Amino acid sequence: MTLAPYAAREDRSRGRRHPEAPPQGRSEYQRDRDRIIHSAAFRRLEYKTQVFVSHEGDLYRNRLTHSLEVAQITRSLARGLHLNEDLAETIALAHDLGHTPFGHAGQDALDDCLKVHGGFEHNAQSLRVVDELEDKYADFRGLNLTFETREGILKHCSLSRAATLGDVGERFLSKQQPGLEAQLTNIADQIAYNNHDVDDGLRAGLLSIEQMCEVPLFSRFHAEVVARYTALAPRQLRHETIRRMINALVIDLHTETARRLAELDLTDIDAVRSHGKPLVSFSAEMQRDNRDLKRYLSEHLYQHHQVYRVMHKARRIVRELFEALHADIRLLPPEFHAAARAAAATAGETGQARVVADYVAGMTDRYAQDEHARLYDLRQLR
Ligand code: MG
Repeated sequence: MTLAPYAAREDRSRGRRHPEAPPQGRSEYQRDRDRIIHSAAFRRLEYKTQVFVSHEGDLYRNRLTHSLEVAQITRSLARGLHLNEDLAETIALAHDLGHTPFGHAGQDALDDCLKVHGGFEHNAQSLRVVDELEDKYADFRGLNLTFETREGILKHCSLSRAATLGDVGERFLSKQQPGLEAQLTNIADQIAYNNHDVDDGLRAGLLSIEQMCEVPLFSRFHAEVVARYTALAPRQLRHETIRRMINALVIDLHTETARRLAELDLTDIDAVRSHGKPLVSFSAEMQRDNRDLKRYLSEHLYQHHQVYRVMHKARRIVRELFEALHADIRLLPPEFHAAARAAAATAGETGQARVVADYVAGMTDRYAQDEHARLYDLRQLR
């Protein structure tokens, strides 16, 4: 397929930190994707959650299925817009690698614990996973991914952290945008989680169809489905409505983005980077609908008392894990203990805290619960 001039092109890639021979039989971005899929952090996504904790049911989304849904949406948009589909898929599969256990509750708790050490940001942690923490390769640390994949993974970043991240941090300091493949993944992420959270929320009984009809985007398609079919089972009604929502969001995003791109004469990816604002966008009406949906979910699902109670405990688990391990690094497994001592020697207390955070952030939901019990439950001496 022909790429648009403003798509990422591997023959113009800014390359890898450690130069390697070109891959055979696959593109540079496919090689990045393959390395991500074979990483330990990618496998752990299956046991990390965003809203519903793993044991609450096997059918709820976890970060692995979420990442696959984001990849699906990103790929079809990338193909339709003549962007680099391989790169778009790669960024989508990697975008959540740095998440802590228990979603945002875990991230907030870890961020609090690290306040005096520069805080914890999950996007920066995703980059740290692929640049530093995966350690299986003989010739380099991390996965040695291309600049464009790393740029896409670092979706958001504070300026103070950006200043420490070298080439991929520079764009935050010079107010540049990432490439379009990265911009697509960012919005595809929102489309995926808003819709799968509606689906999971309805299935869990935390949201009701009647309630959801307060949200314009939902009620519009719900009415369409009800008018067209009689006697649908609840799961069919739910799915028929949600698939229309996803479709409408994707088509709107494609149409508006294509319109914006057609108005400009962008000659290459650098023109995308130096354009003052993101080019991947919904239309104004869809932006409003999407914001309403998001607001509704944050008030009624993410703050639902059943979710809140679980997340309250989750925050405590993460905080207490950090506190115990940071107070006495001999409690860490031997390889992390060695890394913490080495980091303390070169970067002091802050370096040591970062290694403890790496260990806690890498845990799955279940492992964090078990490790917390092993450290704090005095009835089990393990
Ligand atoms: Mg995500």
